[in-house]
Amino acid sequence: MPTRYVLKIPCPISGCSGQSKLSQWVCARDNGTMYVDEDGYLSCYSNNHRAKIIYWRFDCGERGSGSKHNYERYQSADLEGFSHAMAIGLPHLKEAGAVWVTKLIQSVENQFVNGDY
Ligand SMILES: [Zn+2]
Ligand SMILES: [Zn+2]
Repeated sequence: MPTRYVLKIPCPISGCSGQSKLSQWVCARDNGTMYVDEDGYLSCYSNNHRAKIIYWRFDCGERGSGSKHNYERYQSADLEGFSHAMAIGLPHLKEAGAVWVTKLIQSVENQFVNGDY
């Protein structure tokens, strides 16, 4: 079983003003806190909604000229955006450890480069 930790990252959408501030994320379906595991899946508290990162869409709540969510609220992350978000968020995840972090980074890269398998 993968180990999951609370997802605490800035907005993973490239170019969004929310990229500069750390956020906690909730599931749009049931408002549950979002978690991330080393296999590259996001899941909400209930675990009823769990999917690879490439399938999730994100809304950091920022609005206005710097926001990427003004026309379409929920946006898919790309590798650059999600890597940037992880670079800021992962140092705050001290309990995860280097092995977990390395595996997550590999899983995420694999998803964006190779798609879903
Ligand atoms: Zn959910
Ligand atoms: Zn955003």
